[in-house]
Amino acid sequence: MPIKNRFADFQNEMVTWRHNFHEHPELQFDLPRTTKKVIELLKEFGVNSIKNEVGKSGIVAEIHGQKVDSGRSIGFRADMDALPVSEVNNFSHKSKIENKMHACGHDGHTTILLGVAKYLCETRNFNGRVVLVFQPAEEGGGGAKAMVDDNLIKNWDINEIYGLHNLPNLPVGEFAIKSGALMAASDFFEIIVEGKGGHAALPHFSNDTTLASSAIVLALQQIVSRRVSALQSVVLSVTGLSTDTMAHNVTPDTVRITGTTRFLDEQERQKMPSSIQKTAESTAVAYGCSAKVRYEFGVSVTDNYVENTEFAVAAAKEVVGAQNIKTDIEPIMAGEDFSEMLSQCPGAFIFLGNGPSASWHNPSYDFNNEALPFGCSWFANLAEQRLPLD
Ligand SMILES: [Zn+2]
Ligand SMILES: [Zn+2]
Repeated sequence: MPIKNRFADFQNEMVTWRHNFHEHPELQFDLPRTTKKVIELLKEFGVNSIKNEVGKSGIVAEIHGQKVDSGRSIGFRADMDALPVSEVNNFSHKSKIENKMHACGHDGHTTILLGVAKYLCETRNFNGRVVLVFQPAEEGGGGAKAMVDDNLIKNWDINEIYGLHNLPNLPVGEFAIKSGALMAASDFFEIIVEGKGGHAALPHFSNDTTLASSAIVLALQQIVSRRVSALQSVVLSVTGLSTDTMAHNVTPDTVRITGTTRFLDEQERQKMPSSIQKTAESTAVAYGCSAKVRYEFGVSVTDNYVENTEFAVAAAKEVVGAQNIKTDIEPIMAGEDFSEMLSQCPGAFIFLGNGPSASWHNPSYDFNNEALPFGCSWFANLAEQRLPLD
């Protein structure tokens, strides 16, 4: 397998870093230990500059090539945060912290970018600057947006940007990508249903919020089936239903309904808040209740640029050969906030095979150490191919 030998040479060192991150997971923007370790290693490798606290706790480092007269910069992004999940694995690098776990493999992504930093600092076989972006709070915290709002793209003059995510059950040594929509836009909603509580034995004196909420949940399911074209991909999931009482014999005053929506098309997305609002409000009225809807826009569609997808594939080809790259995969309806970076700068996002594996966010998940050199080689090839020395 034509992995760049340099990475095979220090794979064991990378595994040590990865296990260290895995044992000490941190959440959202609160990453003191992780960022300290990243900065220590970047300094040791000899990067040209490091700036921390970009987008609260993000880190941006620059590596200059043997020449910089191309005036071009390429951005590489890794996410650093873990999840509030209790790990059930029993291996020696298991999380040491209750209810925190690297269950999405961001420990692997951070390690890959550190490996790339070490390699590029030693070789510098490129003309221009490589900008390494270590991002906080990918898991629903708005970390990418915080870094973009802190002028990441403009201040570091990034011309194109790339990122990767491991993919469970894609074989190690394979990549998967597509141009256009790769991952979904992801939004959230909350509906508060209010009625008139009372004695459960005397329902005719109440306006039953539990019944109204049940009808709202069913009606919401009909938005996708009746209001959205069959050719569009939209998901609406109600994920929570809670009342203000635990008693068996009390009709609650208030019920809270929560859920998420996913889209690959921005126009469908823009129609959803009013569809949910009309459905919830009108259904509630039929039961003598009222409903208030709060709809929150989350991350946008991760929309790979056509040209940059080709560059990403070319870089992967040199690592694993064309036969090990899937270029026509179906989009995944999970959200990924790398989309915020792609909204400001051309680029592409690729999936890296994690081998047989529990799924993302599962308490049995682990990043596959064997995937590290493949991810590193892909980034290194991108730097050398997109910023050629001559
Ligand atoms: Zn995740
Ligand atoms: Zn993730």
